[in-house]
Amino acid sequence: MIENKVIIITGASSGIGEASAKLLAEKGAKLVLGARREDRLKQIAGDIAAAGGEAVYQALDVTDPADNEAIVKLAQDRFGRLDAIFLNAGIMPSSPVSALKTGEWRQMVDVNINGVLNGVAAVMPVFTAQKSGHILATSSVAGLKAYPGASVYGGTKWFVRNFMEVLRMESAAEGTNIRTATLYPAAINTELLDTITDAGMAEGMHGLYKTYGISPERIAGVVAFALDLPEDMTVNEFTVGPASQP
Ligand code: NDP
Repeated sequence: MIENKVIIITGASSGIGEASAKLLAEKGAKLVLGARREDRLKQIAGDIAAAGGEAVYQALDVTDPADNEAIVKLAQDRFGRLDAIFLNAGIMPSSPVSALKTGEWRQMVDVNINGVLNGVAAVMPVFTAQKSGHILATSSVAGLKAYPGASVYGGTKWFVRNFMEVLRMESAAEGTNIRTATLYPAAINTELLDTITDAGMAEGMHGLYKTYGISPERIAGVVAFALDLPEDMTVNEFTVGPASQP
């Protein structure tokens, strides 16, 4: 049941995070929204409240461990507990290796990998103590298959896949009752392409998304499905996107 679950969403200021927040709020979840753009979070929390839902927000840079700890504390202070975290923040400044955009490589590692690690580190003590918790993470179809241009982006998403699967196995073996679910979206029309600075890559990706992309609202239901499962069940991995995308 989603109703009354306390859920943190990282990367909640746009795209998949925003759409999931709005749908989960509609289903009665109590939400804690995090991202860097506080103005956007304020607007989204306001929209949720206007529709009768409940959401608080806080500026969060997932690359900063202290920010992750602070948002977990906010959830506990405001709602008295924490049931789930959706580790969704990510960036995709893709480019060919030969372009040597080394600063962007490091940014992707920091947000897409360290951001997930920081979030997990912040919730694990809470989930371990209460012997329950649900950790969802957004990987990508680029975390399942190699794509030219996605050497580093894809690598960060392969990392998410491996990490989440090992966490699932260890949690099962340790009997901590911490559940995991990893989302592998294909082309979803969000602001993600705005992070691409390589002109050739941007052109190719915009063409692909124009042909196949679907709205983030259409995959929010999959996030809700994972969170709605009974406590003794989990959906470990789900690839989701437009049926027409090869
Ligand atoms: P958006 O660009 O719309 O959303 C990305 C979110 O991540 C924003 O809310 C952004 O907020 C947040 N974010 C970025 N950097 C940080 C940071 N350092 N700290 C906190 N939050 C951060 O794109 P999507 O909704 O598409 O992306 C969501 C996830 O889905 C990402 O992990 C992405 O890799 C993944 N994905 C998306 C696909 C797609 O086709 N759209 C396909 C496969 C995977 P802010 O800038 O305010 O901090």
